[in-house]
Amino acid sequence: MKITGIETYLMQVGARPSHASEAKGIYADFRGSRNWLFVKVLTDEGIYGVGECSGWPRVIETAVKDYAGLLIGEDPADIDRLWGKLFIGSMGHGVLGTVGAGALTGIEMALWDIKGKALGQPVWNLLGGRFRDRIPVYGHAKTPAQAKALLGAGYKAMKVSFTGAVELSKVAAVRETVGPDIDIMVDAHGPSWATPQDAIQIGRELEAFDPLFYEDPIAPENLDAFQRVRDNVGVPLAAGERLSTIWGLRPLIERDLVDVVQPDTGRAGGITQMRKIAAMAEAHYITMAPHSGSLGPVAEFAALHVMATIPNALMLERMEFDWPGRNTVISAPPVLEGGALVLPTTPGLGVDIVPDEIAKHPSVRNVSILPDDDGWAYESGTTGEAVYFQTRLQRRLKLRRGS
Ligand SMILES: [Mg+2]
Repeated sequence: MKITGIETYLMQVGARPSHASEAKGIYADFRGSRNWLFVKVLTDEGIYGVGECSGWPRVIETAVKDYAGLLIGEDPADIDRLWGKLFIGSMGHGVLGTVGAGALTGIEMALWDIKGKALGQPVWNLLGGRFRDRIPVYGHAKTPAQAKALLGAGYKAMKVSFTGAVELSKVAAVRETVGPDIDIMVDAHGPSWATPQDAIQIGRELEAFDPLFYEDPIAPENLDAFQRVRDNVGVPLAAGERLSTIWGLRPLIERDLVDVVQPDTGRAGGITQMRKIAAMAEAHYITMAPHSGSLGPVAEFAALHVMATIPNALMLERMEFDWPGRNTVISAPPVLEGGALVLPTTPGLGVDIVPDEIAKHPSVRNVSILPDDDGWAYESGTTGEAVYFQTRLQRRLKLRRGS
């Protein structure tokens, strides 16, 4: 079998920016900056594989087209060798970033899909077989109403996620709504302006809510500061969504900085990289809960195959209150049962894309448009948010508003 071509399918997720203000209800916050990029690797035997690339999809589309020249004419069965060919072929660009790894990821995912279809086996059966045929998932809730909606859908875990300040009152409200027997997590998104002292203080206050983990309490690129948080809070820590490949994730694992590692299935480097990261984590008794916050539905299927086959799978993130058109761009969504997704059993990844539906949502932009600030105080969601010249008091007020 030979690879004959690679097609890309880029789309805007949800409303165009000009329409974003019209979004209502649970989608009211949706600002429409997200893109999904799917790829299709074609072969001379009529079998094709699908994959998904996250990291910066509009940029990655160009990277995938560049890679095509290195793949056409190759045997798609040689997945690891071809991954290495692409990796070395783009080494001059610095490939540890999520953009380069995102391109590798979607292509590698599609090669696994081809192999599964060619052999008539689901990908998980080519990776060593199953530990489980249900993959536990967690949703997102910031209000009692969202928490109740997830409980009603069978979820047994949910994350309270903050892109600005961590609002402990919201964590408390969700904990009170779900009771003591449901897991909750808190995501601070590792803002660059968070000081270790304040991340520690928040972490200590979170102890009362018994979280499954405290995610990105501080910028995870700042390893020594992360270590200070690690040494001074009594709740489990999680990080890893911003990093790619075994080399990118290695410091978090090697230094035991986290209890839960969170590579992103769309940009960590591919299915094999995810399994290697899981193995590194296993050697440190660290569990894995892949990031899915910005991912589309094809990468979610790939994550199910990974999570079925690793011993230290904790839980998979799920965007329950995602764009309502999510399931229209794939052949069929995964089945949710009792707070878990059912592992597919059909050959390959078990999912296909629907190009006609994807074409209805052309990509417009792929960065968030932030309102300008007044050049002095920074507010959540403004360009000023990125600066950190403020005093620690101002930073702390921002980091733990409402508490
Ligand atoms: Mg996160």
